[in-house]
Amino acid sequence: MALTRRDDGWFGGGPEDIRPVLDGLARDHGGAVSHYADAVCPCGGREFGIVVAEGRGCATLDCEACGARLSTGPVPADAGDAGAEACNCACGGDCFEVCAAVVRSPGRAPRRFFLAARCTGCGRVAGYGEWAVPPRVRPPAWRAG
Ligand SMILES: [Zn+2]
Ligand SMILES: [Zn+2]
Repeated sequence: MALTRRDDGWFGGGPEDIRPVLDGLARDHGGAVSHYADAVCPCGGREFGIVVAEGRGCATLDCEACGARLSTGPVPADAGDAGAEACNCACGGDCFEVCAAVVRSPGRAPRRFFLAARCTGCGRVAGYGEWAVPPRVRPPAWRAG
């Protein structure tokens, strides 16, 4: 199944369908993606629970297969932290394939980080967070811990 548009959003068949949605979010922002970071666990798993702390620029993934954690941002985000939120699909699902992107901004505005994910239950692909990327930070990578 390719990425398809329905009245209430985008739906895809696999993790490769997340990047075009990130491209759309980047266009809406007035920029373009300069770097993608697909989330793949060291165990090979691609399905994760997601916790996002937008205010701190952190996202943490919990691998559904082995329980390992992958994070991007200064420190891991915990569901119990102030301002941190576990992501749920509109269908109630909480298991996702995940891709992040760094987006160039118009003019001199700082680059922005976008997080998008595909619900493995219903296929919905949506954005789950965005924040400014501080200058001189390297492109985000998912790292264990
Ligand atoms: Zn894993
Ligand atoms: Zn869903």
